[in-house]
Amino acid sequence: MKSLQLATALGFALSAPLAFAVGPPKQPSASELLRNIERLSTVGNVLYVAAHPDDENTRLLAYLANEKLLRTAYLSVTRGEGGQNLIGPEQGFPLGLIRTQELLAARRIDGADQFFTRARDFGFSKSAEETLSIWDRDAILADIVWVIRSFKPDVIISRFPPQGSETHGQHTASAQLTVEAFRAAADPKFHPEQVEKVGTWQARRVVWNKFFFGRPIEEAPGLIKLDVGAYNPLLGVSYGEMAAVSRSMHKSQGFGAAPSRGPALEYFELLAGEPVSRDIFDGLDLSWSRVQGSKKLVELLAKARQKFKATAPQESIPQLLEIQAELQSLPANPWKDEKQKEAVAAIVGAAGLWADAYASEYNVAPGAELKVNTVVLSRNPAPLELREVRLPGKTVPVHKPLAANQPIQMEQLLRISAEAPLSIPYWLAQPPAPGTFRADNPALIGLPENPPSLSAEFVLGSGRYSFSVSRPISYKWTDPVEGERYRPVRIVPRLMVNPELALLVFPDDKPKQLRVVLKAGDAHVAGTLRPELPADWRISPAFHSFQLANKGDELEVTFQIEPVRKPASFFSATLSLVAEVEGRKMSRGYTEIQHSHIPIQAMFPEAQVKLTRFDLQKAKTNIGYILGPGDEVPAALRQVGYKVTILEDESLRNEPLDRFDAVVVGVRAYNVNRRLPFYHRKLMDYVAGGGTLVVQYSTSNRLSTVPQEIGPYPFEISQERVTDENAAVTFEIPNHPVLRQPNPLGQADFAGWIQERGLYFAGKWSERYEAILSMHDPGEPPRKGSLLATRYGKGAFVYTGLAFFRQLPAGVPGAYRLFANLIAYGR
Ligand SMILES: [Zn+2]
Repeated sequence: MKSLQLATALGFALSAPLAFAVGPPKQPSASELLRNIERLSTVGNVLYVAAHPDDENTRLLAYLANEKLLRTAYLSVTRGEGGQNLIGPEQGFPLGLIRTQELLAARRIDGADQFFTRARDFGFSKSAEETLSIWDRDAILADIVWVIRSFKPDVIISRFPPQGSETHGQHTASAQLTVEAFRAAADPKFHPEQVEKVGTWQARRVVWNKFFFGRPIEEAPGLIKLDVGAYNPLLGVSYGEMAAVSRSMHKSQGFGAAPSRGPALEYFELLAGEPVSRDIFDGLDLSWSRVQGSKKLVELLAKARQKFKATAPQESIPQLLEIQAELQSLPANPWKDEKQKEAVAAIVGAAGLWADAYASEYNVAPGAELKVNTVVLSRNPAPLELREVRLPGKTVPVHKPLAANQPIQMEQLLRISAEAPLSIPYWLAQPPAPGTFRADNPALIGLPENPPSLSAEFVLGSGRYSFSVSRPISYKWTDPVEGERYRPVRIVPRLMVNPELALLVFPDDKPKQLRVVLKAGDAHVAGTLRPELPADWRISPAFHSFQLANKGDELEVTFQIEPVRKPASFFSATLSLVAEVEGRKMSRGYTEIQHSHIPIQAMFPEAQVKLTRFDLQKAKTNIGYILGPGDEVPAALRQVGYKVTILEDESLRNEPLDRFDAVVVGVRAYNVNRRLPFYHRKLMDYVAGGGTLVVQYSTSNRLSTVPQEIGPYPFEISQERVTDENAAVTFEIPNHPVLRQPNPLGQADFAGWIQERGLYFAGKWSERYEAILSMHDPGEPPRKGSLLATRYGKGAFVYTGLAFFRQLPAGVPGAYRLFANLIAYGR
């Protein structure tokens, strides 16, 4: 029985979860169904590993999953939260949630599964050594081993080579760990607690999916070629076309892709394991002959393929039921559980079976009631009956045959357990370490997202056969633009505590107001809200009492906060807001992330506000601001007393600029605002007349090039960056006004920066610019293009690649002081 338990553990650990799409569950067409029946005969798994969302080769994944019919998965070591966001203001953890969902959306198209480790994407890294010193090396290696041991790939494909430094350090590190994990997965002494659950696993080999990135292809001996450009007549697409749709899901990265058609060669080089001569699957039998006692199954599968009728797929159901039962009777093997799920999915598809469970609300609190409707409908005349519906805390016997196209509908009232855990993404439930997320429940490690908080199981059958279909309990509604939309039902706190800001900056001794919105997750929620704060601060009142009658009700309360001592340079503290409701402490807020290509995501941040006190002098305060995508700098500037007017196209065209002390251009504004170059003359005239123009970086890369003219004199934007946020900063022109006025700067102003110093520095510039700072990453020459300034006419122009867009929203004092000086430069 031991082996059976292993199989069960494997199924639980890393089977494709009930991934949630934005729309209703998809039903296969008859040709997709035929392809799914054919897939039942292929027995083998392949795992692709790289570092980030977008590193994966979607064309190869599409080919392996749909042409070779292998169970294919992409293991992205990180969730990509250190990148930049082209579609909204989300950065950090919320961006990681978006990228996770973009990968799941891509996988729904190319048919692969998706896994992750606990590694954090801490931003650009120039070496594998640096990466592996920030990640918890053993934990991340163990996570990759865990995915290998439970997914059991025959072949592992690494996107990157384990040597070399031509790409991101996280890339090289992912490859090094993959090769190491390939060996460690087979070693019973490595993390034996995993071995108890899923056993060891020896993949046949690891190969590198070689890339040339625009360089001529090197035809080296030992290089394996694979043409993945085939066309699939059952699906009506080539894998290049499928890959383009899949890759275009990476919308937060601007990866809309055009399809390729015709031959598409992929190249592979052996990294470890058994030698290879023709094909990456050399020496592997990818059929049921790898499992003893499968003779009858193979015959049944052949018959099912042969007899399949596209116009009456339900006629295959008796055979598919027999196949499912035969799979169940096989001795434990690494493929059995997944193949049973595929067989059940084929039965569901053949019956045109619609099974859905939807609730009257999308959020429910522990202890509350929830109305749930279930519907089961066989759209083809199938010999099936609905035997049972299992809901959380309730099993409803049914035992009714499913008449063709006649739904069986029920409404149930559920009581959610008072101890039900909140639907917090598992890797965000605890504050993470600098390089690594924590996961309290080891069974969730590797999974892309939490299993659904609430799900329904429909038990169906025919004669002696029985099988079940699970669906997340969802909420559905009709959007006037998008049509029918689905979202999962989540468990939320009875009371949600949402401070209006995550950061409060005090540039002087004056008190500030903080508004906090209390929102009821249930009816009749009453209690008190208390702020918790260290002694350097005064806050009033000491508490607020509240009483919320209805679910969804909101109440806004205000606290006044005041720093009570003078800063030597600066000091900061964390304010925690803790509510008490019927003896339970509640200190989490609730926010949603909405983008139309992914399901609505929810975050439950701790109700905490960072307070920072430092002295900031401002010589000019009236600013016009041209926004970059998802720009949070204007809000950060308003916090410290600037008057910020956002300049849309119309005001740029029609209104004079000389009413502003300075005009600031947001990060990547030149990349997204195609009309900005038309205002170049107007902006330069504004500078010549005495204005100050501060331009934050725009990127010059594959996504877009920037216009020739941004400043009054030529300069080029390069790909140079300094990723070490603690890199020493040298004042090249120590008495330059931007380092002296109105805030005299010193080294302390470059302490406490986050993630990076800056990026997209100027590479070459006219001698009329002054390069004010110099800095560099370890082992690199000094980079002087982070901050260029010049006088022009009566005014001044500044270009900066310093990462103010990260530092200001994070409340870094020195960044505020330097930015205030840039705004003040000129007249
Ligand atoms: Zn990458």
